[in-house]
Amino acid sequence: MRDSNFLLENNARHLWHPMAHPAEMRKNPPRIVAAADGVEIVDVHGQRLLDGVGGLWNVNLGYSCDPVKQAIRDQLEDLPYYSAFRGTTTSPLIELSYELAEWFREDGLVRSFFTSGGSDSVETALRLARQYHKLNGQPERTKFIALKKGYHGTHFGGASVNGNSNFRRAYEPLLPGVLHLPAPFTYRNPFNTADGAEIAQAIARQFEEEIAFQGADTIAALIMEPVLGAGGVIVPHETFMPLMRAICDRHGILLIADEVITAFGRTGAWTGSRLWGVKPDLICTAKAITNGYFPFGAVMIAQKVADVFEGNDSSLGSIGHGYTYSGHPVGAAAALATLKETKRLNVAANAAERGEELLAGLVRLQEKHALVGDARGKGLMCALELVSDRSSKTSASKQVVQKVYDTAYEAGVMVRTSGANIILSPPLVITAEHVNRILSALDAGLSAAA
Ligand code: PLP
Repeated sequence: MRDSNFLLENNARHLWHPMAHPAEMRKNPPRIVAAADGVEIVDVHGQRLLDGVGGLWNVNLGYSCDPVKQAIRDQLEDLPYYSAFRGTTTSPLIELSYELAEWFREDGLVRSFFTSGGSDSVETALRLARQYHKLNGQPERTKFIALKKGYHGTHFGGASVNGNSNFRRAYEPLLPGVLHLPAPFTYRNPFNTADGAEIAQAIARQFEEEIAFQGADTIAALIMEPVLGAGGVIVPHETFMPLMRAICDRHGILLIADEVITAFGRTGAWTGSRLWGVKPDLICTAKAITNGYFPFGAVMIAQKVADVFEGNDSSLGSIGHGYTYSGHPVGAAAALATLKETKRLNVAANAAERGEELLAGLVRLQEKHALVGDARGKGLMCALELVSDRSSKTSASKQVVQKVYDTAYEAGVMVRTSGANIILSPPLVITAEHVNRILSALDAGLSAAA
C-alpha cells in the first residue's frame, strides 16, 4: 500500500466522498481503513479499532466470515455474471429467492425482486407500489407518505420521501405528491410530550387528517423504517407501526417497510416489522443481506401485491424496471451464505442481549455526562444525542462531537457521528467485553469533550 501522505493528498485531489463536502478533505481528512478481521478494523497507521459502526450498519457478522468469502470466490469461478432480465436466470438467484421466501414467510412476503443496494430497493418498492394501484384499477393513487427524519437512500424517489432536508435541498425539485408526518420521537416532537404512546396517537390522527384532506384514492403508499436509523436511531412506541398498518388497511394504502438496516436481526428480531408485529406489503432490504461483502439488495413482496401483478396479463403488468445487477449471481451466492451464517449464529438473539447491555451503559453515560441529552436504541442500533444545554436541548457543537469521536478513536473504538448524534451499530456478533470497550471509549470521549 502507498504511504498515508500520498493517499491523503490524492484522496483530496481526486476523490469525492458520499455525504461529505469535497472542499473539506484537506482540513478534515478521512481515516484510511487498511484491513479488518473479527469485529475490528485496522487503519493505515496500524491502529486497531473495534468497529462500533459495523461498516455502515451492514457488516453484521464481522469481517472474518469465511463461508461468505468462500461463496463469493466459488461463484466468481463458476459464473461471475449473468443477467436476470427476461429470458435468463441463474441458479444462485433461484435458490436465494427460495430461501428468502422461507425467511420472510412469517412476514407474509412471498416474492423477491433483486437490486444492488438500499437506494435501489427503495426505488423499486416505490415504483411497484404505483404500478400495483394502476393494475388494481386505481391509477390516481400516486402520492407517497413518509416520516420526517426518515432516510430512504439517495435516488430521486428515495430523496423525495427522505425526511431530512440535508438530503433534499440541493436536489429539489423532487417528486411532487410526497407528504411527511412527524417522526415518532420522544426526545423532540411537536406534541409537547415525551410519552411514546401519546405521540403515536397524535401522528396517527395527523395521518388520518392528511388522508381525508388529500383523498385516500390519491395515496399509493406509506414508507417507513420500523426503527429510524440514519435520522438518529428513533425507536417508536410499540403501538406506532401497528397503528400505521391499520390506517393503511382502512384506506387501501400500501405499507412499505424500509428495512435496509433492520432486516436480518439488527433490532433483536429478524425483521423490524416482526418486532412490532406488523406485516408490510413490501419490505426493502440490502446491507446485511450479504454482510456488506457485495453490493446487493432485495425487495420482498406480499401475496396481495403478487396476486395483482400475476393476475394481470396486460402489458402494464410487465415490470419495466430493473438493474443490470438485479440479481448478480455473485451477490446472490454471498447472500445465500450470509443468510445461512446469520441463522446458524442466531445473531438476532445476541443483538437483543448485547443491545440491552449497550443501552443500559449508554443510559449510565447520560446520567454521568451533562453533554448527553438522550440515550436510545433497540437491539444493536443505538445513539447518544449530545447537547450543550439539557434544558433547551441545544445541540452540541461540531467541535464537541468531533472531540468525542477523536477520543473514542484514540481509545480504539470507531463510532459514527451524524449531526449531534453518536451512532452505534456494531456487528451483531460482538461480546459483552466488546460492549464494555465501546462504553469506556465513549466515557473517555465525553470526559474529554466536556
Ligand atoms: N434505506 C435505509 C433505511 C437506509 O438506512 C439506507 C442506507 O443507509 C438506504 C435506504 C440506502 O441504502 P444504500 O446506501 O445501500 O443505497
